[in-house]
Amino acid sequence: MYINIHTHQSHKSGVWSIQNMHDNFEVANSLFNYSVGIHPWYINENTISNDFEKMKLARNKINVLAIGECGLDRICKTSFELQKAVFIRHIQWANEIAKPIIIHCVKAHEDILALLKDYQCLVPVIFHGFNNKESIANKIIKAGHYLSFGNAILFPSNEIAFNHIPLDKIFLETDDSDHTIEAIYEQAGRIKNISLEQLNLQIKKNTKKVFNLNVL
Ligand SMILES: [Zn+2]
Repeated sequence: MYINIHTHQSHKSGVWSIQNMHDNFEVANSLFNYSVGIHPWYINENTISNDFEKMKLARNKINVLAIGECGLDRICKTSFELQKAVFIRHIQWANEIAKPIIIHCVKAHEDILALLKDYQCLVPVIFHGFNNKESIANKIIKAGHYLSFGNAILFPSNEIAFNHIPLDKIFLETDDSDHTIEAIYEQAGRIKNISLEQLNLQIKKNTKKVFNLNVL
């Protein structure tokens, strides 16, 4: 079984996935898994409190396994200060309900690491869609967090960073791309030089640990 930790698409057969949602919670199916959070692109200063309330209510109705994607993005239009304030609310909510956080990070890893520390984040944290340098990956891992890789590992420039990350810190995802999770797994196994079976076992182990699941 393939595990897709972060997708914007609905459930696919043969894949255990976490579908990301920031709105339209009524279309969620009680059989599947979701993450809920307000992406920096969609923060609206006037509706943010209401959006949070909606998310909190949705959580009672759908199977929310994680908070996010949320985080900081230096190249989006939302003011950075507002993004920070909203991200802090996500950290606090995640702590309160003891769910992992899925992070959206664009040119802001230092700020995110600092906020996670300052606001005493107690839950596991996954930086999703990682496509940055090995030195940044190492900083994130050293702080105790996880990295999730998507279609970026299909490009040779990202192979080196991926190859050096310990297997017990890795997740795989499709995000909003059209690549299949099967293709991402194949490439990940090839870079790491391990069998698909070994990779499957490891990702399963990581998922059970981080999302506190007994069975998968
Ligand atoms: Zn995403």
